[in-house]
Amino acid sequence: MKQILKTVWQMDRRNFLLILLLNIGVALTSSISIVLLIPMLDLLEVSIGDSGALGILLQPFAGMNYLERAVAIIAVFIVLMLLRALLNSFATVRQNAYLERYEMGMRKDVYQAIGSASWETLSERSGAELIQLISLQCRQARFCLQWTIGLIASAFSALLQLVIALWMSLPVTIMALVVGASFLFLFRPFLKKSKEYGQKAVEVNRELHRETQNQLSSIKEIRAYGAEDHHRKLFAQISQKYYDISLRTTQLRVIPQLCYSVAAAVLIGIAFVFSVLILDTGTAQLMVLVYIFSRLWPVFSSWQGQLQNIQAYVPAYETVQASICDLTKGQREPQSRDGSVNFTQQITFDKVGFTYKSGSEEVLKDLCFTLPRGSVTALVGPSGAGKSTTADLLLGLLQPTEGRILVDDVALDSQNLGAWRKRIGYIPQEPLILNATIRENLLRFHPEAGEEEMISALKRSLAWPFIEKLPNGLDTVLGDNGVRLSGGERQRIVLARVLMGDPSLIILDEATSALDYESENFIRQTIRSLREDTTVLIIAHRMATIRGADRAIVLLNGRIEEQGSLQELLQKQDSYLTKMVSVE
Ligand code: ADP
Repeated sequence: MKQILKTVWQMDRRNFLLILLLNIGVALTSSISIVLLIPMLDLLEVSIGDSGALGILLQPFAGMNYLERAVAIIAVFIVLMLLRALLNSFATVRQNAYLERYEMGMRKDVYQAIGSASWETLSERSGAELIQLISLQCRQARFCLQWTIGLIASAFSALLQLVIALWMSLPVTIMALVVGASFLFLFRPFLKKSKEYGQKAVEVNRELHRETQNQLSSIKEIRAYGAEDHHRKLFAQISQKYYDISLRTTQLRVIPQLCYSVAAAVLIGIAFVFSVLILDTGTAQLMVLVYIFSRLWPVFSSWQGQLQNIQAYVPAYETVQASICDLTKGQREPQSRDGSVNFTQQITFDKVGFTYKSGSEEVLKDLCFTLPRGSVTALVGPSGAGKSTTADLLLGLLQPTEGRILVDDVALDSQNLGAWRKRIGYIPQEPLILNATIRENLLRFHPEAGEEEMISALKRSLAWPFIEKLPNGLDTVLGDNGVRLSGGERQRIVLARVLMGDPSLIILDEATSALDYESENFIRQTIRSLREDTTVLIIAHRMATIRGADRAIVLLNGRIEEQGSLQELLQKQDSYLTKMVSVE
């Protein structure tokens, strides 16, 4: 909580103080309106007794006749209520604007931290986790701040209520104060429990998001396997956990509120018996009771609730802050935008080794190979051999921990990586197709491209023939709400998007699963349709694709097992490639 207060203070103290003042203003006007009951009762000729303190409230109206007094009291009351309503509306708008700004700022910080995080740091977190961080947890952190502001504001207004209550009656106020404070002390374990439940809620939420994302992305497989029941049960189990934790948090909130209400009833009874029935002090003491139990007592019970709410949301706040810190710690090196790279001859891996920060073993060892300009190379090997890591190194997402990567004779470093990436086109296994028009899909990564550029790229990727036939052409909506394309057609659009950047090197991660004849054909045709000087590296999983390449590199356990021209490798009887051919 200290950290939250520090953040609040550093962020925008002017507005924070204004919100506090407005809240105090609301509390002040409400208190005075209640105190006005005294002259009102006096007007109705109800005896208020001879309490000196309360008598002061009658002084301003002394000397007025009945009608003047009635008008004056009602006028003051109306003005006060109006002022209260105005202050309240203003405070609500200001406070919400302040909190929305805080939430937006935090979301921006998370987004920036994700943007600046190194690839390695980022790949340790799932997409579902990051989405949850940006959406749900930022929202919950905002609630944490909201309750904290509420608590500080009510502390100030409590002070005010306390002064008025003490002025009205010392013994009754002290009785309420002692019982209220002991309740707060008594319910301290509830705060600890709230935080514990809050932490669990963050974990269950994460689990729920992850499971939802997993199930949605594998909906086809689930149906194909007929595994709906099992998945439904899994989902129901996590939903139940979510329900349980929410219910327990609510129960935890309700118990103290119940105790406060019972205590209020008992205290009113005791105070009433002593001050009114036994001491017979009249209406004035009744007013004190009304005031204390309508204004001061709720402060205690709402503090308990607010403190529990804060504790319940503190874990979300801490998760956001810790994630920003983690992502920023694993920041990628700043990359110069001015560097340039000349790629006229070859890319060379010179004794490249790589170890992930989170792993102890070297996953790539002593890689030495070249990719001559205009060549088509297949990178082959079993799962876990290091193919994706090699591609990530080539993309500049990871930096070698040993050796160097040279483009012509220049080693890739933070000075020229930015320029190098602009010359690469990357086609992942599951490329992004937006639920939008073909035009929007193409412009997403090349916002300045013109119509001709788009059509030319679509022609080169062999997508134009089928797009031309669509009634809305480039403005056809793809995806769930539009035209459904075959896997091959989608790949062609993605390739057009890549070609619009006029890349010198294309890295193509062939889909491991469900590769049909059309997709295999796509890869072969693509390679043929590319300009002669375009270099291609395909992470290949099947012979049909490999055959489209002119060279192959076989990786096994992070080392190069064999490399050379396809013909050469296929002639060797016990080569990995020869074995691959015999299996297919
Ligand atoms: P391939 O693409 O050939 O399947 P990868 O390059 O994905 O192989 O993985 C090579 C090795 O590096 C594997 O042992 C894998 O477990 C490990 N690895 C991959 N990504 C990470 C990561 N982010 N952190 C730690 N180890 C990783």
